[in-house]
Amino acid sequence: MVARPVSHRFGGPRGRLVEALQEKGIKDLAVLRAFNLTPRHLFIPPAIEHRAYEDSALPIGNGQTISQPSTHARYLELLHLTGSERVLEIGTGSGYQTALLSHLAGQVFSMERVGALLIRARDALRAAGARNVSLLSGDGTLGWRDYAPYDAILVTASSPDIPAPLVEQLADGGRLLIPVGGRNDQTLALIVRCGKELERTDIAPARFVPLVGTHGWPKE
Ligand code: SAH
Repeated sequence: MVARPVSHRFGGPRGRLVEALQEKGIKDLAVLRAFNLTPRHLFIPPAIEHRAYEDSALPIGNGQTISQPSTHARYLELLHLTGSERVLEIGTGSGYQTALLSHLAGQVFSMERVGALLIRARDALRAAGARNVSLLSGDGTLGWRDYAPYDAILVTASSPDIPAPLVEQLADGGRLLIPVGGRNDQTLALIVRCGKELERTDIAPARFVPLVGTHGWPKE
């Protein structure tokens, strides 16, 4: 039997979003394919569904936001995934990026500290047909030891420093992407593990909500 496409709805706007990403310089075909396969409208509140395929960040409730698609796309390109990797995502939020990752990696583990968001993300991921995803409610600054080491770790909230447990849970050759800096302005840092050495490259300015936890920011 031929599997049905994940969602027929919004096929046109989704295609136009993929074209917009290409115009903004996204070249990785696997990343573009993941955007084509992922129904973003399932991951945002129904009241703003009509805005799902704009290249803009949108509110998802509980004071959090779903990032701009072109931001997700640039970050996903930087991970250089080939389809077999084990990936840890910190900050599930809406679950949209988790769904994108599910098309790009072998297994995706994602952690979120706000329980209400995780429940909605779980339902949306199910509706989107993502199967290789495991979710955990808790403090992602501690990582998820049970499934470590990870070939890639993607942190979608900003931290004053790089949480030590995440570096410890990074595989040899693994790539960690994390926005580091102040509460309002950060730099996106790429950390690559080479044996015991860590190579850090600062990629670009970034603006994310705070990573709140033991190795992040204290609760306000
Ligand atoms: N990638 C998400 C973006 C979510 S915003 C999306 O596209 O929808 C960042 C998320 O990180 C928020 O949902 C926030 O609750 C979560 N977060 C903040 N600190 C965290 C922590 N210590 N552990 C896990 N999640 C955290």
